[in-house]
Formats: sequence, structure tokens, C-alpha cells
Amino acid sequence: MANNKLISEVLQNSVAPTWDEARLEWHIENIYQVTEPQECACGHFPITELCEIKNSKNENVITVGNHCVQTFIGLNSNKLFNALKRIKGDDKSACNPDVIELAYKQNILTGWQRDFYIDTWRKRNLSDKQMTQRATINRKIILGISRIGE
Ligand SMILES: [Zn+2]
Repeated sequence: MANNKLISEVLQNSVAPTWDEARLEWHIENIYQVTEPQECACGHFPITELCEIKNSKNENVITVGNHCVQTFIGLNSNKLFNALKRIKGDDKSACNPDVIELAYKQNILTGWQRDFYIDTWRKRNLSDKQMTQRATINRKIILGISRIGE
């Protein structure tokens, strides 16, 4: 069970009155990695992998650490951060489509870059040109997502 501070923060910003219903109202709006650690809504410090989660019913936004989003809110934020780590380690590897969508929504990527990536992300054999393009987009994502919140 999540700690009281996290529960009250989520409930205060939700429409439903109970934790079990309220946590279903949230989705991941944004993720970012910071070099200057921040505090999770649960009170934990230091946190460097953060999610902005948004309530679909009232549009409230709160910032919660990756761990609490994954474990207590029940959204798969690990998948997003793992994809980021993967492309940081190898800029020719494929990112996760959900990260691509987030990066597009944050204006880190253009519509063309998003479409290109989604069209090619499952392909194992990219041409040299496509591979260079993918690596360029990966670096843009890393820079964009790391920069936010610093
Ligand atoms: Zn937390």
C-alpha cells in the first residue's frame, strides 16, 4: 500500500473519493530525468526519474517518482524509463512507441520524426540512412527528456 502522503496527494487531486477508484483516473502525461534530484509526492528524496501524471477527469497534474507511479498508481512507467536507458546505452536501438508519443506531445519530435519512428521501429534491418535517422531522433529524445525539469 502506498504511504499516506502519496494517497492524500492523489485523492486531493482526484474526483473519486477512494484510493482504488481514484488511482484509475490517472495517466502518464510526461516523463523526465533530472540531474538535480527532486522529491516524489510521497515525500521520498532524492528522485531523478519523475513522471507528471494527469487526472483524466479534472486535468490536475502531479509529479510522482517512477517507482511510486509503477508500484502504487499501477501505470507502467518502468517501461518508459527502461526504453530511455536502452537508447542512452545504444542510440541505434529502438525506443518504445509510448516514449515517442510523449516526446511528440512535448514538441521534442516533429510529426515527421514520430511517423518515421513508428513506421520503422519494429524493423530489424534498417538502411544506413534510416539507422542514422533513428540515432538522431534517439539523441533528440534523450536531450529533450533529460533537459526538462532541470
Ligand atoms: Zn514516491
